[in-house]
Amino acid sequence: QNAKYLASQAKRESNARSYPRRLTIAIQEAEGIYVKDMDGKVYYDCLAGAGTLALGHNHQVVIGAIKKMLDSKHPLHTLDLMTPVKEQFIDELFDSLPADFARHARIQFCGPTGGDAVEAAVKLVKTATGNRSMLSFQGGYHGSTHATMSLSGTLGYKEKVHGLIPDVHFLPYPYAYRCPFGVGGESTHRLSSIYIDTLLSDPESGIVAPCGMIFEVVQGEGGSIPAPVEWIREMRRITQERDIPLIIDEVQTGIGRTGKMFAFEHAGIIPDVLVLSKAIGGSLPLSVIIYHEKYDVWKPGAHIGTFRGNQMAMAAGQATLTYIKEQDIPSAAEQLGQRLQDRLQMLKNEVTCIGDVRGRGLMVGVEVVNPEGGKDVLGHYPAYPLMASRIQQECLQRGLILEIGGRHSSVMRFLPPLIVTEQQLDDIATIFGEAVR
Ligand code: PMP
Repeated sequence: QNAKYLASQAKRESNARSYPRRLTIAIQEAEGIYVKDMDGKVYYDCLAGAGTLALGHNHQVVIGAIKKMLDSKHPLHTLDLMTPVKEQFIDELFDSLPADFARHARIQFCGPTGGDAVEAAVKLVKTATGNRSMLSFQGGYHGSTHATMSLSGTLGYKEKVHGLIPDVHFLPYPYAYRCPFGVGGESTHRLSSIYIDTLLSDPESGIVAPCGMIFEVVQGEGGSIPAPVEWIREMRRITQERDIPLIIDEVQTGIGRTGKMFAFEHAGIIPDVLVLSKAIGGSLPLSVIIYHEKYDVWKPGAHIGTFRGNQMAMAAGQATLTYIKEQDIPSAAEQLGQRLQDRLQMLKNEVTCIGDVRGRGLMVGVEVVNPEGGKDVLGHYPAYPLMASRIQQECLQRGLILEIGGRHSSVMRFLPPLIVTEQQLDDIATIFGEAVR
């Protein structure tokens, strides 16, 4: 059955399709952390819509909110006209922000995807500052549209796309395991901050008046790499001192995944612009930017479009946010993530093809390395994308869906729904261990 659907898809969909090439299943049913393929085989879903499904598949809270919408006479589409559904969504979202941020916050509903919101954020800071160059980070991922691809530090998918936005300066992200400065440990983030501070002060650097800096607090697609809180604070200081708007892309980290409602809260800072999508729509498409009122500089009509805020997604998103707060899901995500990391560390001690285990909350990565390759200056073996791919297939056969990420496609990424239980997480770690062995 799976093969039939895959063949039909391969015939009719774009050659750019990616997940189905590795995850060779068609899905007929899904519930919680599980999906069932067309042959009735059940899998743990640790991809979960690339982090979208905070409450898992078809959670009763989400389904209930959607049903309520459908049974009401609320409009399903209103452009950006006001509705009670939107009012409640904004209330809930602002109530989830740190009070200092919420007090001066403005929200802009964007197109349905994360990329749309990143586009909007960059356009906003360009308008606000009158500047044009952006500061972004090696290994970062912000989307597949023209501007967001230009901002992304991952290289492969930019191939043969000419005329990307040229004014993007890529800075070293604090990726200790593959430290850009060849030192590792705590020195990585210290050197990264010093380097960036110095670069921005150097008139010869070629960086002229940036319109903004953008980063992910935990790089997602780049390989589940958490930035240390000291580094995040340094980026806030550096941008604040130079009046450079700081855009934090929480499309993947947002609403509870990392152990706080928003990942920037770990560092106790507040961004100028916050980008949200994925989980914010409770599994339906929605994206927003939230920013300080001093950046509310667009003239009426400066950022228009047909699908600015889907009513159904707002209802599902509001219900999701309420549930996340009521159940204190961020704390659970923190503990569960640590439990998973502990299990994976034990596995790392046992096998030679795992070089690093890292993450924050339920955003965990395992870097797969080749013990037969030459070590780098830090004494780490090289990335091993072939083995990562092999592990992914072994997991799939055993009923576990995991995606691969990282700059060299060598990081196994765990993004389970946040409602995962200890028992399920232990099972996932067990299956993963068997697949690796
Ligand atoms: N930013 C980050 C951090 C992401 O992880 C993603 C998607 N993986 C995006 C932006 C782009 O979102 P979308 O795919 O919805 O355009």
